[in-house]
Amino acid sequence: MKLVFATNNLNKLKEVQEMLPSSIELLSLKDIDCFDEIEETETTLEGNAQLKADYITKNYKYNCFADDTGLEVESLKGKPGVYSARFAGKPANSENNMDKLLEDLEGKTNRKAQFRTAIALNINDKEFHFEGICKGDILTKKQGEKGFGYDPIFKPKGFEKSFAEMTQEEKNKISHRGIAIQKLVAFLKEYK
Ligand code: IMP
Repeated sequence: MKLVFATNNLNKLKEVQEMLPSSIELLSLKDIDCFDEIEETETTLEGNAQLKADYITKNYKYNCFADDTGLEVESLKGKPGVYSARFAGKPANSENNMDKLLEDLEGKTNRKAQFRTAIALNINDKEFHFEGICKGDILTKKQGEKGFGYDPIFKPKGFEKSFAEMTQEEKNKISHRGIAIQKLVAFLKEYK
């Protein structure tokens, strides 16, 4: 079965393909000649994941899954959440986003946060949903050089280092996206 992963990130694609049985051939957006800018206009992670999967299924007629991730900070009532990529406004990049978050949390003692990934899967005219959560704390300053996004200021629960101080392999085992993907893969392995 051919299955589209609505992403242009080939690292993500390769990682998931390696976890799947060879009967499932994963295709990227580029593989199906989709170069469209799919705007994430929904107000929830689930909504945006579904919107992306639906766009591909409707316009390209493929079974497809899509993901969306956000960082939810308890004392900011779940912000930046679905707006994590553009939290700092323009120019929204990782450094500015992290600086804004550290500033918003200045003086706050509750620094609890979680990364949450929502996956929407459209398969043979049915929809399925998967979720992965990684709980932790927002550090008071950046630590580590690896990873991307908010990794240098996120310390997963039970660890003494930030995501940006972990290897990709270490992070994948406990990360929101890793957990959501593991659930998707378990489902697809059993899917008839
Ligand atoms: P996306 O839905 O995977 O594109 O994630 C949206 C935004 O959330 C990214 O632009 C990052 O700012 C942030 N983000 C998602 N996953 C991670 C992660 O694993 N580490 C740090 N930041 C992340």
